[in-house]
Amino acid sequence: MELLNFIGGEWIEDASLQTMPVINPANGEQLGTIPLSTKSQVELAAKKAKEAQRSWALVPAPKRADYLYEIAFKLKEKKEQLAQTLTKEMGKVIEEARGEVQEGIDMALYMAAEGRRLFGETVPSELPNKFAMSVRAPIGVAGLITPWNFPIAIATWKAFPALVAGNTVVWKPSNETPFMAYELAKIFEEAGLPPGVVNIVFGSGPTVGTAIVEHPDIRIISFTGSTTTGSKVAELGGKHLKKVSLEMGGKNAVIVMDDANLDLALEGILWSAFGTAGQRCTACSRVIVHKDVKQELEQRLVEAAKQLTVGNGLDPAIKVGPVINKAALEKINHYVQIGKQQGANLLLGGEILTDGDLANGHYFAPTIFTDVEATSILAQEEIFGPVISIIEVSSLEEAIEVNNNVKFGLSSSIFSQDVNKIFKAQQLLDTGIVYVNAGTTGAEIHLPFGGTKGTGNGHRDSGQAALDVYTEWKSIYVDYSGKLQRAQIDNNA
Ligand code: NDP
Repeated sequence: MELLNFIGGEWIEDASLQTMPVINPANGEQLGTIPLSTKSQVELAAKKAKEAQRSWALVPAPKRADYLYEIAFKLKEKKEQLAQTLTKEMGKVIEEARGEVQEGIDMALYMAAEGRRLFGETVPSELPNKFAMSVRAPIGVAGLITPWNFPIAIATWKAFPALVAGNTVVWKPSNETPFMAYELAKIFEEAGLPPGVVNIVFGSGPTVGTAIVEHPDIRIISFTGSTTTGSKVAELGGKHLKKVSLEMGGKNAVIVMDDANLDLALEGILWSAFGTAGQRCTACSRVIVHKDVKQELEQRLVEAAKQLTVGNGLDPAIKVGPVINKAALEKINHYVQIGKQQGANLLLGGEILTDGDLANGHYFAPTIFTDVEATSILAQEEIFGPVISIIEVSSLEEAIEVNNNVKFGLSSSIFSQDVNKIFKAQQLLDTGIVYVNAGTTGAEIHLPFGGTKGTGNGHRDSGQAALDVYTEWKSIYVDYSGKLQRAQIDNNA
């Protein structure tokens, strides 16, 4: 199937554009093609978005929200079909794909409800017969750049708050997962979203992404992806004085203390390390374990990870799907080789899987290293695959220090039954998300999502915090005294 750009409410055919295949990572099957757009498609999309924004911003927010309710209902109707398509293009197992679509539904409903809130402030004026308030104003056109690992969830985390607040959107989805963007565009059309309110431009990051970041009419950029790309986006966006919201990489850890419920810790680690084949930004890639329980935990972890079935995620018996592409497979393998060379002790996996049906896809065996140095490359860099490094510590203080001593700060977790340790940890762990007695994944859409240090630049997706990204504060003073009153001068203080 040949996917087309969706601009100004139309599917744009442009034979002059080169195309690129979309591949199912589970078996190498070609699912379709996307156009490799050039700067001119971004210019057209920005023009249509700017035109549409003038009238969209004047639609009362509760009416804008009605479109989001309609979108939520359509997502619900199509949940199974969307989940199947998601698994085919991205590879995550079907149960997780359903969960991701549900995240989109939840976000649509949550942001739709914001249409009747979008709270500002009213405050007393220091002067008589004067009223003072602040309101959230839309920024204008929002440029969204999204990765492949949560192709529907991340798009909805960004698009829905932008829309309910009165912005319009130019969106560049990842090349790897354009079908989710196509399906969402069809739903927007069916929900009757006015033309130009959401525009989708397919193509390469360096061309389409750069054109979005540089375009003078796109005033807010919301990016999720790697820290390397995010830094480029921030630099270019900064040059053009844009608001830039970045959600980037992670090197997340589960801390297991000596008093932890090990059954629970085991489950939490398995789910957050090997779910989505380790390709969640919040995936657990380090296990920081107290020396007194290390041996037992690592033995049980190896036994449990051996049972994980690897294969095509459409089969409900499969627990670990493929990684996204050959380059990802090679990158994971590269880090595993470095780990071996640097003396980490490989307990399980460590290899590309090619037996039988796996031969045509991109599969990496669930991999566990132990005795990993906390400062080694394996324990410091984002691998984005099913690989965990076990690091031994002797105290809570040391565990927290090891957790924090990486360049990222997205998610962390502690397993302990001691309330004092738990509260100390939640205060000192330097990450945007902290879990207690759960793995590093599982964020809910109504709290802020994002991280510290190399993971972000202070903004957050999700929750109320997302509204801060897509709005400007406007302060309004209404003087009904009938005379000129001068603040700070006529208040007799
Ligand atoms: P990339 O940084 O490679 O790509 C992200 C997006 O940016 C893609 O759409 C890509 O386009 C585009 N892009 C590439 N180059 C540029 C450029 N020069 N200018 C503008 N846009 C560009 O990340 P991945 O897609 O590989 O996603 C994985 C990464 O995302 C991981 O590091 C992960 O941790 C992070 N992530 C962070 C999350 C968070 O909330 N903190 C959540 C999910 C993922 P193209 O289609 O060409 O690749």
